[in-house]
Amino acid sequence: MFRSINPATGDEIATYPELTADEVEAKIARAVERFATWRFTPVADRTALLDRIATEFDARIEPMARMASMEMGKTLVSARAELQKCAAAFRYYAQNGEALLAPQPIAGANGEVHLLPLGPILAVMPWNFPYWQVIRFVAPTILAGNVGLLKHASIVQGVAGMIEETIIAAGAPDGLFQNLAIKSDKVGPLIADDRIAGVALTGSEGAGRSVAEAAGKALKKVVLELGGSDPFIVMPSADIDQAAKVAVIARIQNSGQSCVCAKRMIVHAEVYDAFAGKFIAGMLAAKAGDPMDASSEMGPLSSFEQLKTVLGQLEEAKAAGAKLVGGEALPSKGAYIGGGVLTGVPVDSALAHEEIFGPIAMLFKVADIDEAIRVANAIPFGLGSSVWTRDKGEEDRFIAGIEAGMTAINQMLASMPEAPFGGIKHSGHGRELGPWGLHEFMNIKSVLRPN
Ligand code: NAP
Repeated sequence: MFRSINPATGDEIATYPELTADEVEAKIARAVERFATWRFTPVADRTALLDRIATEFDARIEPMARMASMEMGKTLVSARAELQKCAAAFRYYAQNGEALLAPQPIAGANGEVHLLPLGPILAVMPWNFPYWQVIRFVAPTILAGNVGLLKHASIVQGVAGMIEETIIAAGAPDGLFQNLAIKSDKVGPLIADDRIAGVALTGSEGAGRSVAEAAGKALKKVVLELGGSDPFIVMPSADIDQAAKVAVIARIQNSGQSCVCAKRMIVHAEVYDAFAGKFIAGMLAAKAGDPMDASSEMGPLSSFEQLKTVLGQLEEAKAAGAKLVGGEALPSKGAYIGGGVLTGVPVDSALAHEEIFGPIAMLFKVADIDEAIRVANAIPFGLGSSVWTRDKGEEDRFIAGIEAGMTAINQMLASMPEAPFGGIKHSGHGRELGPWGLHEFMNIKSVLRPN
């Protein structure tokens, strides 16, 4: 049994039954059956379906956005934007599908590379962008000729059901995409099942280790999109007003619960005071309130457990000698917390290495670019990064020196359908989106003929 609790009120919204073992088995069998035909379906038919799904998503933005707001607390405004981005991703793969899957000549040989599907792919997904995380798996899966099975996060089963309904309403054939309402202890056995060809996980480091272990045992392809504690580096040549303004947005987006939120602000000593003053004021002014109210910049955290985790991390920080401004639970029946900033967190402390999944920033002062890069890289994660400089030489050093899958320059980092998204180190491996995400779960086949 799954229970959806509205984190803005603590009220139960709905309960959902867990699938029985027989129901899971029937869904896997249906996926296998669908793959037998979908793998040979012309690309033009696959892209036409993706286009219809985009239209269907656009038509359902309002009810779907409300469901996400109610289940995990994101603001309605941001939920609508998330759904628009989902439609854009379906359109990206629809419009570029033929080109992305075209055989590619092999230089120096009489032959070419063909891109062929692998089979049913299992996706294990998180609640924080409950549509977008799933869609950036589903759209390339359908285009590739694979079929998809989703194990969504326990707290967003209403969203999971709506995704499935919407894809079916667009005319997806039976078994092409199915929601599996199962708990995480059922994931390992599914990965071990020979009929599952690969697994994609977006989630925490702990889930990543367990999914990767199961995939390793089964010798199965796995893509891992895990946590991050992205650096946001500000150098003296930057536009400090703009950097401080964007830093606040980059930290409080999704109530601070994005893998690529800027979580560690690393600021050159020359501009530290100017930046810190504006940034801290912005963080303290960020308005947390009813996610359905258009004036709220943040809703509650996704659950009361999540609030407890963040408050625990802040206690840990204070005990280690860090100073906290803001970051207090708000007097309300919801799981609300105000924006906050930690200073004095030792670079080598356990907390500096952790991901804080709430609107709390860590602020570090550095003497020069070498120290900025050293502090940025001093953690196990390597997902995104944002650097603020108008010096081309510094820009090049950041691109080459920062250990992360993505670097945004003079802007906050955001995912987009066209660009590869993913990390290195403990942030995972493999990429989603763009051509790279499409090719992760494909058989890249060399076809060779005599010269
Ligand atoms: P989570 O607890 O790891 O859950 C993610 C998914 O994995 C859920 O469906 C969860 O199921 C399942 N799961 C948890 N433990 C598992 C296990 N041992 N074996 C198999 N499945 C397991 O993460 P979350 O709290 O939902 O999401 C937040 C995390 O995701 C953060 O660390 C964030 O940075 C990361 N994230 C990364 C990206 C990226 O692209 N790199 C994007 C978004 C989020 P249950 O819900 O049933 O437990």
